[in-house]
Amino acid sequence: MEITDVIVHTLSLSNVEDVANGTQDAAIIEVTTDEGITGIGEADSSPAVVEAIVNAPRSHDKSTGLKEVVVGRDPFDVQVLWDEMFDKSYYYGRKGAAITAISGIDMALWDIMGKVTGKPIHKLIGGKKCNEVRAYASTLFPEDPMNTEYMRRQSEQILEDGFTAVKFGWGSFGQDVEHDHELLGAARDILGPNFDIMVDAGMTYGWDTKRAIKTTKSLDKAHNLFWMEEPVFADNVEGYAEISNATETRIVGGEEEYTAYGFRDFISRGNVDGVQPDVARSGGITHMNKIASLAAQSGIPFLPHGYSTDILVAASLHLIAANPNAPLLEYCIEDSPLRWDVVEEDLDVEDGYVSVPTDPGLGVTLDRDTIAKYRTKLLC
Ligand SMILES: [Mg+2]
Repeated sequence: MEITDVIVHTLSLSNVEDVANGTQDAAIIEVTTDEGITGIGEADSSPAVVEAIVNAPRSHDKSTGLKEVVVGRDPFDVQVLWDEMFDKSYYYGRKGAAITAISGIDMALWDIMGKVTGKPIHKLIGGKKCNEVRAYASTLFPEDPMNTEYMRRQSEQILEDGFTAVKFGWGSFGQDVEHDHELLGAARDILGPNFDIMVDAGMTYGWDTKRAIKTTKSLDKAHNLFWMEEPVFADNVEGYAEISNATETRIVGGEEEYTAYGFRDFISRGNVDGVQPDVARSGGITHMNKIASLAAQSGIPFLPHGYSTDILVAASLHLIAANPNAPLLEYCIEDSPLRWDVVEEDLDVEDGYVSVPTDPGLGVTLDRDTIAKYRTKLLC
Protein backbone atom coordinates (compact mmCIF):
# COMPACT_ATOMS: atom_id res chain seq x y z
CA MET A 1 0.00 0.00 0.00
CA GLU A 2 1.35 3.43 -0.95
CA ILE A 3 0.44 6.99 -0.03
CA THR A 4 -0.39 8.90 -3.22
CA ASP A 5 -1.20 12.43 -2.00
CA VAL A 6 -1.69 14.74 0.97
CA ILE A 7 -4.47 17.29 0.56
CA VAL A 8 -5.04 20.24 2.91
CA HIS A 9 -8.53 21.73 3.02
CA THR A 10 -8.24 25.20 4.54
CA LEU A 11 -11.63 26.18 5.92
CA SER A 12 -12.70 29.52 7.34
CA LEU A 13 -15.75 31.46 8.39
CA SER A 14 -16.29 34.64 6.38
CA ASN A 15 -15.38 36.81 9.34
CA VAL A 16 -12.56 35.74 11.71
CA GLU A 17 -12.56 37.87 14.87
CA ASP A 18 -9.58 38.68 17.09
CA VAL A 19 -10.71 36.39 19.94
CA ALA A 20 -9.42 33.08 21.34
CA ASN A 21 -11.97 31.00 19.46
CA GLY A 22 -10.37 28.11 17.55
CA THR A 23 -13.58 27.22 15.71
CA GLN A 24 -13.35 30.12 13.25
CA ASP A 25 -11.16 28.19 10.82
CA ALA A 26 -9.68 24.70 10.36
CA ALA A 27 -7.02 22.78 8.44
CA ILE A 28 -8.43 19.40 7.45
CA ILE A 29 -6.01 16.88 5.98
CA GLU A 30 -6.71 13.99 3.66
CA VAL A 31 -4.11 11.33 2.88
CA THR A 32 -4.94 9.24 -0.19
CA THR A 33 -3.59 5.79 -1.11
CA ASP A 34 -3.22 3.66 -4.23
CA GLU A 35 -5.83 1.24 -2.83
CA GLY A 36 -8.58 3.86 -2.75
CA ILE A 37 -8.63 4.22 1.04
CA THR A 38 -8.37 7.79 2.33
CA GLY A 39 -7.53 8.88 5.86
CA ILE A 40 -8.58 12.16 7.45
CA GLY A 41 -6.90 14.27 10.11
CA GLU A 42 -6.78 17.80 11.48
CA ALA A 43 -3.96 20.24 12.18
CA ASP A 44 -4.99 22.96 14.64
CA SER A 45 -2.88 25.93 13.59
CA SER A 46 -3.13 28.70 11.02
CA PRO A 47 -4.56 26.72 8.06
CA ALA A 48 -2.57 28.73 5.52
CA VAL A 49 0.67 27.96 7.37
CA VAL A 50 -0.19 24.24 7.57
CA GLU A 51 -0.88 24.20 3.86
CA ALA A 52 2.53 25.75 3.15
CA ILE A 53 4.31 23.25 5.42
CA VAL A 54 2.68 20.30 3.65
CA ASN A 55 3.31 21.59 0.11
CA ALA A 56 6.66 23.37 0.49
CA PRO A 57 9.36 22.29 -1.99
CA ARG A 58 12.58 20.82 -0.62
CA SER A 59 15.10 23.50 0.35
CA HIS A 60 17.46 21.38 2.45
CA ASP A 61 17.74 17.87 3.88
CA LYS A 62 16.31 19.20 7.17
CA SER A 63 13.89 21.63 5.52
CA THR A 64 11.46 19.74 3.32
CA GLY A 65 7.69 19.94 2.80
CA LEU A 66 5.88 17.04 4.48
CA LYS A 67 4.06 15.78 1.39
CA GLU A 68 7.37 14.96 -0.25
CA VAL A 69 8.37 12.88 2.80
CA VAL A 70 5.31 10.62 2.87
CA VAL A 71 4.15 10.20 -0.75
CA GLY A 72 5.14 6.76 -2.08
CA ARG A 73 5.46 5.33 1.43
CA ASP A 74 3.41 2.72 3.33
CA PRO A 75 0.93 4.31 5.81
CA PHE A 76 1.51 1.40 8.21
CA ASP A 77 5.08 2.69 8.70
CA VAL A 78 3.54 5.42 10.86
CA GLN A 79 6.27 5.63 13.51
CA VAL A 80 9.06 5.70 10.93
CA LEU A 81 7.18 8.35 8.92
CA TRP A 82 6.60 10.47 12.04
CA ASP A 83 10.35 10.42 12.76
CA GLU A 84 11.22 11.23 9.14
CA MET A 85 8.75 14.14 9.02
CA PHE A 86 10.22 15.45 12.29
CA ASP A 87 13.78 15.07 11.00
CA LYS A 88 13.13 16.63 7.59
CA SER A 89 11.28 19.64 9.06
CA TYR A 90 13.83 20.25 11.80
CA TYR A 91 15.13 23.61 10.53
CA TYR A 92 11.64 25.13 10.45
CA GLY A 93 9.99 22.80 12.93
CA ARG A 94 10.65 21.00 16.27
CA LYS A 95 7.73 22.90 17.82
CA GLY A 96 4.79 24.96 16.59
CA ALA A 97 3.10 24.77 13.20
CA ALA A 98 5.33 22.05 11.72
CA ILE A 99 4.33 19.68 14.52
CA THR A 100 0.67 20.54 14.02
CA ALA A 101 1.01 19.60 10.34
CA ILE A 102 2.77 16.35 11.29
CA SER A 103 -0.08 15.74 13.77
CA GLY A 104 -2.71 16.04 11.04
CA ILE A 105 -0.90 13.67 8.69
CA ASP A 106 -0.20 11.19 11.52
CA MET A 107 -3.90 11.21 12.48
CA ALA A 108 -4.83 10.45 8.86
CA LEU A 109 -2.34 7.54 8.74
CA TRP A 110 -3.95 5.99 11.84
CA ASP A 111 -7.35 6.51 10.20
CA ILE A 112 -6.11 4.61 7.13
CA MET A 113 -4.72 1.76 9.27
CA GLY A 114 -8.04 1.47 11.04
CA LYS A 115 -10.00 1.43 7.80
CA VAL A 116 -7.70 -1.22 6.25
CA THR A 117 -7.89 -3.50 9.31
CA GLY A 118 -11.57 -2.77 10.00
CA LYS A 119 -10.81 -1.61 13.56
CA PRO A 120 -11.31 1.67 15.43
CA ILE A 121 -8.06 3.45 16.38
CA HIS A 122 -8.43 2.62 20.08
CA LYS A 123 -8.16 -1.08 19.13
CA LEU A 124 -4.85 -0.38 17.40
CA ILE A 125 -3.36 1.49 20.38
CA GLY A 126 -4.34 -0.89 23.14
CA GLY A 127 -8.13 -1.14 23.46
CA LYS A 128 -10.62 0.86 25.47
CA LYS A 129 -11.10 0.98 29.21
CA CYS A 130 -14.60 2.46 28.87
CA ASN A 131 -17.38 2.88 26.32
CA GLU A 132 -17.98 6.54 27.14
CA VAL A 133 -15.95 9.41 28.54
CA ARG A 134 -16.97 12.15 30.96
CA ALA A 135 -16.99 15.45 29.08
CA TYR A 136 -16.54 18.94 30.43
CA ALA A 137 -18.12 21.86 28.60
CA SER A 138 -15.44 24.25 27.39
CA THR A 139 -16.28 27.88 26.71
CA LEU A 140 -14.88 31.40 26.93
CA PHE A 141 -15.28 34.13 29.50
CA PRO A 142 -17.14 37.17 28.09
CA GLU A 143 -15.11 39.92 26.42
CA ASP A 144 -16.84 42.37 28.78
CA PRO A 145 -15.59 41.65 32.34
CA MET A 146 -18.85 43.07 33.78
CA ASN A 147 -21.07 40.66 31.86
CA THR A 148 -22.24 38.38 34.66
CA GLU A 149 -25.49 37.84 32.77
CA TYR A 150 -23.52 35.97 30.07
CA MET A 151 -22.06 33.69 32.78
CA ARG A 152 -25.55 32.93 34.09
CA ARG A 153 -26.93 32.17 30.64
CA GLN A 154 -23.99 29.94 29.70
CA SER A 155 -24.24 28.09 33.02
CA GLU A 156 -27.97 27.48 32.57
CA GLN A 157 -27.37 26.10 29.06
CA ILE A 158 -24.55 23.84 30.29
CA LEU A 159 -26.79 22.42 33.02
CA GLU A 160 -29.59 21.89 30.51
CA ASP A 161 -27.20 20.04 28.18
CA GLY A 162 -26.39 17.52 30.93
CA PHE A 163 -22.77 18.42 31.73
CA THR A 164 -21.33 17.92 35.22
CA ALA A 165 -18.22 20.08 34.68
CA VAL A 166 -17.32 23.28 32.84
CA LYS A 167 -14.24 25.27 31.95
CA PHE A 168 -14.34 29.03 31.40
CA GLY A 169 -11.28 30.56 29.79
CA TRP A 170 -9.59 33.50 28.09
CA GLY A 171 -11.82 36.47 27.15
CA SER A 172 -11.68 39.21 29.77
CA PHE A 173 -10.33 36.94 32.53
CA GLY A 174 -7.36 38.13 34.56
CA GLN A 175 -7.63 41.87 33.97
CA ASP A 176 -9.24 42.66 37.31
CA VAL A 177 -9.55 40.13 40.12
CA GLU A 178 -12.79 41.66 41.44
CA HIS A 179 -14.43 41.18 38.05
CA ASP A 180 -13.09 37.61 37.94
CA HIS A 181 -14.75 36.97 41.31
CA GLU A 182 -18.04 38.36 40.06
CA LEU A 183 -17.98 36.29 36.86
CA LEU A 184 -17.15 33.05 38.67
CA GLY A 185 -19.60 33.82 41.46
CA ALA A 186 -22.39 34.19 38.88
CA ALA A 187 -21.52 30.79 37.39
CA ARG A 188 -21.29 29.09 40.81
CA ASP A 189 -24.69 30.52 41.79
CA ILE A 190 -26.34 28.78 38.85
CA LEU A 191 -24.27 25.58 38.80
CA GLY A 192 -24.44 24.81 42.51
CA PRO A 193 -21.76 23.71 44.99
CA ASN A 194 -21.01 20.27 43.54
CA PHE A 195 -20.43 21.21 39.90
CA ASP A 196 -16.77 21.06 38.79
CA ILE A 197 -15.56 24.46 37.54
CA MET A 198 -12.21 24.82 35.83
CA VAL A 199 -10.58 28.16 35.01
CA ASP A 200 -8.32 28.67 32.01
CA ALA A 201 -6.25 31.82 32.51
CA GLY A 202 -5.08 31.52 28.90
CA MET A 203 -1.57 32.77 29.77
CA THR A 204 -3.10 36.07 30.88
CA TYR A 205 -1.01 38.93 29.52
CA GLY A 206 0.70 40.79 32.33
CA TRP A 207 0.52 38.04 34.93
CA ASP A 208 3.78 37.10 36.55
CA THR A 209 4.27 34.10 38.79
CA LYS A 210 3.50 35.93 42.04
CA ARG A 211 0.28 37.42 40.68
CA ALA A 212 -0.77 34.01 39.38
CA ILE A 213 -0.25 32.49 42.84
CA LYS A 214 -2.17 35.27 44.59
CA THR A 215 -5.11 35.17 42.15
CA THR A 216 -5.33 31.38 42.06
CA LYS A 217 -5.48 31.19 45.86
CA SER A 218 -8.10 33.91 46.06
CA LEU A 219 -10.38 32.47 43.35
CA ASP A 220 -10.06 28.88 44.58
CA LYS A 221 -10.90 29.88 48.15
CA ALA A 222 -14.05 31.70 47.04
CA HIS A 223 -15.28 29.46 44.21
CA ASN A 224 -13.65 26.01 44.66
CA LEU A 225 -11.78 25.57 41.37
CA PHE A 226 -11.25 22.10 39.92
CA TRP A 227 -8.06 23.36 38.27
CA MET A 228 -6.25 26.51 37.17
CA GLU A 229 -5.03 26.20 33.58
CA GLU A 230 -2.15 28.03 31.89
CA PRO A 231 -1.68 30.69 34.59
CA VAL A 232 1.56 31.87 32.94
CA PHE A 233 3.20 31.63 29.53
CA ALA A 234 4.07 28.12 28.41
CA ASP A 235 7.79 28.95 28.28
CA ASN A 236 7.81 29.97 31.94
CA VAL A 237 8.18 26.32 32.97
CA GLU A 238 9.76 27.12 36.34
CA GLY A 239 6.82 29.45 36.98
CA TYR A 240 4.46 26.49 36.72
CA ALA A 241 6.50 24.68 39.37
CA GLU A 242 6.46 27.74 41.67
CA ILE A 243 2.69 28.15 41.34
CA SER A 244 2.08 24.44 41.78
CA ASN A 245 4.25 24.35 44.91
CA ALA A 246 2.65 27.47 46.40
CA THR A 247 -1.03 26.53 46.01
CA GLU A 248 -3.29 23.57 46.75
CA THR A 249 -5.11 24.11 43.43
CA ARG A 250 -4.37 21.70 40.57
CA ILE A 251 -2.16 23.53 38.06
CA VAL A 252 -2.39 22.23 34.49
CA GLY A 253 -1.23 23.26 31.02
CA GLY A 254 0.48 22.11 27.87
CA GLU A 255 -1.74 23.04 24.93
CA GLU A 256 1.18 25.17 23.66
CA GLU A 257 3.71 22.36 24.07
CA TYR A 258 4.82 19.87 21.42
CA THR A 259 6.01 16.26 21.18
CA ALA A 260 7.07 13.86 23.91
CA TYR A 261 10.43 15.70 24.01
CA GLY A 262 8.69 18.94 25.04
CA PHE A 263 6.39 17.24 27.53
CA ARG A 264 9.29 15.41 29.18
CA ASP A 265 10.64 18.82 30.26
CA PHE A 266 7.25 20.35 30.98
CA ILE A 267 6.36 17.51 33.34
CA SER A 268 9.73 17.16 35.04
CA ARG A 269 10.53 20.87 35.51
CA GLY A 270 6.99 22.29 35.65
CA ASN A 271 5.71 20.03 38.45
CA VAL A 272 2.22 20.28 36.91
CA ASP A 273 -0.81 18.37 38.16
CA GLY A 274 -1.95 17.37 34.65
CA VAL A 275 -0.91 17.78 31.02
CA GLN A 276 -3.05 19.02 28.14
CA PRO A 277 -1.47 18.10 24.82
CA ASP A 278 -3.68 18.50 21.76
CA VAL A 279 -3.79 15.62 19.26
CA ALA A 280 -4.07 18.12 16.38
CA ARG A 281 -1.05 20.09 17.59
CA SER A 282 1.25 18.14 19.87
CA GLY A 283 2.21 15.22 17.64
CA GLY A 284 -0.83 13.27 16.46
CA ILE A 285 -1.86 9.87 17.79
CA THR A 286 1.76 8.65 17.72
CA HIS A 287 3.26 11.22 20.09
CA MET A 288 0.08 11.70 22.17
CA ASN A 289 0.43 8.07 23.22
CA LYS A 290 4.02 8.70 24.29
CA ILE A 291 2.95 11.84 26.21
CA ALA A 292 0.17 9.88 27.93
CA SER A 293 2.74 7.32 28.98
CA LEU A 294 5.07 10.03 30.33
CA ALA A 295 2.18 11.46 32.34
CA ALA A 296 1.24 8.04 33.69
CA GLN A 297 4.84 7.41 34.73
CA SER A 298 4.75 10.70 36.63
CA GLY A 299 1.44 9.90 38.28
CA ILE A 300 -0.48 12.77 36.71
CA PRO A 301 -3.56 12.79 34.44
CA PHE A 302 -3.46 13.07 30.66
CA LEU A 303 -6.11 15.70 29.80
CA PRO A 304 -6.21 16.21 26.01
CA HIS A 305 -6.89 19.77 24.91
CA GLY A 306 -9.38 20.28 22.08
CA TYR A 307 -11.19 23.34 20.76
CA SER A 308 -11.97 22.59 17.15
CA THR A 309 -13.83 20.09 14.92
CA ASP A 310 -15.27 16.64 15.67
CA ILE A 311 -12.25 15.08 13.90
CA LEU A 312 -10.19 16.29 16.84
CA VAL A 313 -12.87 15.15 19.31
CA ALA A 314 -12.95 11.64 17.80
CA ALA A 315 -9.15 11.32 17.92
CA SER A 316 -9.13 12.51 21.55
CA LEU A 317 -11.80 9.96 22.48
CA HIS A 318 -9.70 7.06 21.11
CA LEU A 319 -6.65 8.25 23.07
CA ILE A 320 -8.60 8.80 26.29
CA ALA A 321 -10.25 5.39 25.98
CA ALA A 322 -6.91 3.61 25.52
CA ASN A 323 -4.98 5.30 28.33
CA PRO A 324 -5.51 4.63 32.05
CA ASN A 325 -4.78 8.13 33.37
CA ALA A 326 -7.23 9.95 31.08
CA PRO A 327 -10.49 10.80 32.87
CA LEU A 328 -11.92 13.75 30.89
CA LEU A 329 -12.81 14.98 27.40
CA GLU A 330 -12.68 18.69 26.62
CA TYR A 331 -15.93 19.45 24.76
CA CYS A 332 -16.00 22.83 23.08
CA ILE A 333 -19.52 24.30 22.95
CA GLU A 334 -18.85 27.17 20.52
CA ASP A 335 -21.71 27.81 18.12
CA SER A 336 -19.76 27.48 14.84
CA PRO A 337 -20.41 25.26 11.80
CA LEU A 338 -16.71 24.33 11.85
CA ARG A 339 -17.21 22.90 15.35
CA TRP A 340 -20.26 20.78 14.52
CA ASP A 341 -20.63 20.21 10.75
CA VAL A 342 -17.21 19.08 9.46
CA VAL A 343 -18.13 15.39 9.88
CA GLU A 344 -21.41 13.62 9.21
CA GLU A 345 -21.60 11.91 12.61
CA ASP A 346 -22.78 13.54 15.85
CA LEU A 347 -20.55 13.02 18.90
CA ASP A 348 -23.23 14.14 21.33
CA VAL A 349 -23.14 14.51 25.10
CA GLU A 350 -25.65 12.37 26.98
CA ASP A 351 -25.89 12.74 30.76
CA GLY A 352 -22.43 14.33 30.73
CA TYR A 353 -20.72 11.55 28.74
CA VAL A 354 -19.66 11.08 25.09
CA SER A 355 -19.46 7.61 23.48
CA VAL A 356 -16.13 6.37 22.09
CA PRO A 357 -16.49 5.87 18.29
CA THR A 358 -16.52 2.22 17.24
CA ASP A 359 -16.38 2.41 13.42
CA PRO A 360 -13.01 1.70 11.73
CA GLY A 361 -10.27 4.32 12.01
CA LEU A 362 -11.33 7.60 13.61
CA GLY A 363 -14.94 6.55 13.10
CA VAL A 364 -16.01 9.83 11.49
CA THR A 365 -16.68 10.81 7.87
CA LEU A 366 -16.00 14.19 6.21
CA ASP A 367 -19.10 16.19 5.37
CA ARG A 368 -18.24 17.22 1.80
CA ASP A 369 -20.88 19.94 1.72
CA THR A 370 -19.30 21.68 4.73
CA ILE A 371 -15.82 21.33 3.19
CA ALA A 372 -17.01 22.89 -0.08
CA LYS A 373 -18.94 25.66 1.66
CA TYR A 374 -16.11 26.92 3.90
CA ARG A 375 -13.04 26.12 1.79
CA THR A 376 -10.79 29.14 1.29
CA LYS A 377 -8.81 29.92 -1.84
CA LEU A 378 -5.71 27.73 -2.19
CA LEU A 379 -2.52 29.65 -1.48
CA CYS A 380 0.00 27.29 -3.08
MG1 LIG B 1 -6.57 26.22 27.49
